Amino acid sequence: MEKIDVLIIGAGVVGLAVAAELSKQFKDKSLVLLEQHSKFGQETSSRNSEVIHSGIYYPTGSLKAKLCVEGNQRLYQFCREWEIPHKRIGKLIIARNETEIPALESILAQGRKNGVSDLEILDRDQITKLEPNIRADAAILSPSTGIIDSHKLMLRLEWLALERGAIIAYNHEVMKVDSKGNEYYVTYRNPTGQLESIHCSWLINCAGLNSDRIVSSLGINIDEIGYRIYPCKGEYFSVTNTKSSLVSRLIYPPPLKELKGLGIHATKTLDGRLRFGPNAFYVETLEYNVNENHAQEFYNAANTYMPFLNPSDLHPDMAGIRPKIQAPGDPFRDFIVCHEVEHGFEGLINLVGIESPGLTSSLALAEIVKGYVH
Ligand SMILES: Cc1cc2nc3c(=O)[nH]c(=O)nc-3n(C[C@H](O)[C@H](O)[C@H](O)COP(=O)(O)OP(=O)(O)OC[C@H]3O[C@@H](n4cnc5c(N)ncnc54)[C@H](O)[C@@H]3O)c2cc1C
Repeated sequence: MEKIDVLIIGAGVVGLAVAAELSKQFKDKSLVLLEQHSKFGQETSSRNSEVIHSGIYYPTGSLKAKLCVEGNQRLYQFCREWEIPHKRIGKLIIARNETEIPALESILAQGRKNGVSDLEILDRDQITKLEPNIRADAAILSPSTGIIDSHKLMLRLEWLALERGAIIAYNHEVMKVDSKGNEYYVTYRNPTGQLESIHCSWLINCAGLNSDRIVSSLGINIDEIGYRIYPCKGEYFSVTNTKSSLVSRLIYPPPLKELKGLGIHATKTLDGRLRFGPNAFYVETLEYNVNENHAQEFYNAANTYMPFLNPSDLHPDMAGIRPKIQAPGDPFRDFIVCHEVEHGFEGLINLVGIESPGLTSSLALAEIVKGYVH
């Protein structure tokens, strides 16, 4: 059985960022990344809003807050360095009426506490100057929020990892993981359907929606340690006609309770399309259809701040699934990024519950992992 130093499971944006970073830092270590699909980013990393968040909402001191603020800067720098298409278009968090203004004030305070230093409060006239077609009484302007081509980001991370000596094996599905001492024995299905094994000293679990199953296959009780994933779907509807050009920034209402989601907001794609979503509902099965019957829910939400829309302007677009560890009705949960020494698994690094802002935080998450590996 082949022995390597580092094995990463999952070629989403996080696994790729980790592979790129570790292969740069540890040139003497052998590194393999196993991915079940035929190419990178076939799950959550290609089914999201592609927003570079600034880190406003999350509780101060949480990894989500810290890594988002840090990840935002790292990502912009990376985009500049590697010419990844992106735009710092800015975002407005709006109060649609007087009753939402206190929510804005607490969001502003939270953002500033988190170190987002460029936030501004706008009144109705200032909003009208920036976004004449939006109906809002007040807003927070977040200039450092932007959008990114996540495919090009992953393509570059993949290239960097390969260039630095990592091996990326697509069509390799990890079926089981065992541990013996501080070594990990990983059984995977190869592209011809046969089971094979490899063993490693460092096992880095970046398996997204499957990351809890990887943990349980080691005999760890995921309910006891709070690692179970409760998939939470988010659908998008988009505007395909010229009305897309009536808005130029990202427009968000105040977020949902316990940060279950950020509310049905309006994002722009790099090609200028206006897109609404995601909504948020827990699901049992992982499928990505958009339920056309939800169009009315989207229209009702969007119409509260974009009165120029008609129901017929909205078309089903795509859906993604959040790998939440926050069970229905539970309070906020943070990212889990843990070297599992305390659970008796030296060399096992789990990244579980990497929902939004995981794309923004990807490079910062990779930094943390780098700090664990030696
Ligand atoms: C609707 C929605 C909107 C979002 N919007 C934003 C946003 O605007 N900004 C932002 O910062 N974040 C956003 N996010 C969050 C962001 O998309 C995720 O945090 C990020 O993509 C997670 O990346 P990942 O690599 O951890 O997971 P994934 O992309 O899911 O990658 C995991 C990989 O592991 C592989 N895998 C799983 N099991 C196995 C196995 N057994 N063997 C081999 N491979 C395996 C999968 O095939 C997959 O490729 C959003 C998420 C959703 C769902």
